[in-house]
Amino acid sequence: MSEKALRLIPDFDLTARNTLALAAQSRLGYVLEDTAQLPALVAEAGRLGLPLRILGGGSNVVLSRNYEGITAIIATRGRSVLAETRDHVLIGAAAGETWTEFVAWTVRNGFGGLENLAGIPGTVGAAPVQNIGAYGAEIADVFHNLTAFDRETGEIIIFSADECAFAYRDSIFKHRPGRYVVLTLRLALPRPWQPNLRFAGLSELASLPDLTPAMVMDRVVAIRASKLPDWRVTPNAGSFFQNPIVSVQEADAVSALVPEAPRFVQADGRIKLSAGWLIEQSGLKGFALGKAGTSERHALVVVNRGGAAAEDIGAIAAHIKARVFERFGVQLHEEPVFC
Ligand SMILES: Cc1cc2nc3c(=O)[nH]c(=O)nc-3n(C[C@H](O)[C@H](O)[C@H](O)COP(=O)(O)OP(=O)(O)OC[C@H]3O[C@@H](n4cnc5c(N)ncnc54)[C@H](O)[C@@H]3O)c2cc1C
Repeated sequence: MSEKALRLIPDFDLTARNTLALAAQSRLGYVLEDTAQLPALVAEAGRLGLPLRILGGGSNVVLSRNYEGITAIIATRGRSVLAETRDHVLIGAAAGETWTEFVAWTVRNGFGGLENLAGIPGTVGAAPVQNIGAYGAEIADVFHNLTAFDRETGEIIIFSADECAFAYRDSIFKHRPGRYVVLTLRLALPRPWQPNLRFAGLSELASLPDLTPAMVMDRVVAIRASKLPDWRVTPNAGSFFQNPIVSVQEADAVSALVPEAPRFVQADGRIKLSAGWLIEQSGLKGFALGKAGTSERHALVVVNRGGAAAEDIGAIAAHIKARVFERFGVQLHEEPVFC
């Protein structure tokens, strides 16, 4: 199939297609609205000898300034209620649906289960890639299965939750980068609805009469707005580092330096530390390095201060990691994908 038939866009500008607003171009681009075009796109990339990069909303990536390949934006649409049983509502959505709109749609239809994940930017298809999570919930909690295109074999595969190997901000898809393109996602929302109010800021809702998923969603969105800078105003990629999960000995070493260091015991006995706290304690909240910086509101959020490109973000990330390691001996790992 020719470039014309697929309407590949030359010098595809991605500056407005990533929430860090990094100056970024791709040699060719494609907006994929129909998954049936995917095999032809993969074949075309092979014919041209170019790599093919998949993007959704660009909210968890640090895009290189010039990508010598094809960037495909997943823009497929569609969402529906697939089945309703006594115990569950099974819902499905295409990968290109906007996650926040999808969550709002479920809540509008009276289905609870996704309200704690409201307000997370990006697409439905990327949500299982890093097992998105917030406010005591993660997508793995309600995951049913997903359909993906295997770029190596050309097959369409259904992945169960076990096959996705979900963990904290992790899944099989992060370990096979680029191999699978998520096409559709199915979630099983439990009935009756059980609100998840464990997280600070939500627990006081427990006393409200007639609590609904919409009320929880509104609270989650309000808390997020009060804590995180709006990426449309201050471009960012959300939490820039994962919360490190360390051994008890490593956590004790941090507590020996600062006794009130937050620590959360995990099911396997290891300790989750707060990356934002470690960065703030290293004196880097509201810190600037060239065109990049950390948010004055939240040390964990790296921001584009104006005109930044990937190298500026890489430089500040390296600086933060070095300072936190020097102070606490803890190694941070970036959450967004550099690509
Ligand atoms: C302000 C802000 C707040 C955020 N808050 C949270 C939060 O609370 N919790 C959280 O978990 N995350 C959070 N994030 C991160 C981000 O929103 C999520 O990771 C989101 O799922 C990324 O979706 P996307 O469509 O933008 O993915 P992209 O950034 O476009 O892509 C991310 C990765 O997924 C791959 N990918 C994208 N689509 C597909 C597909 N269909 N098939 C296969 N691979 C694909 C890409 O190749 C890339 O490797 C936040 C980000 C921002 C900017």
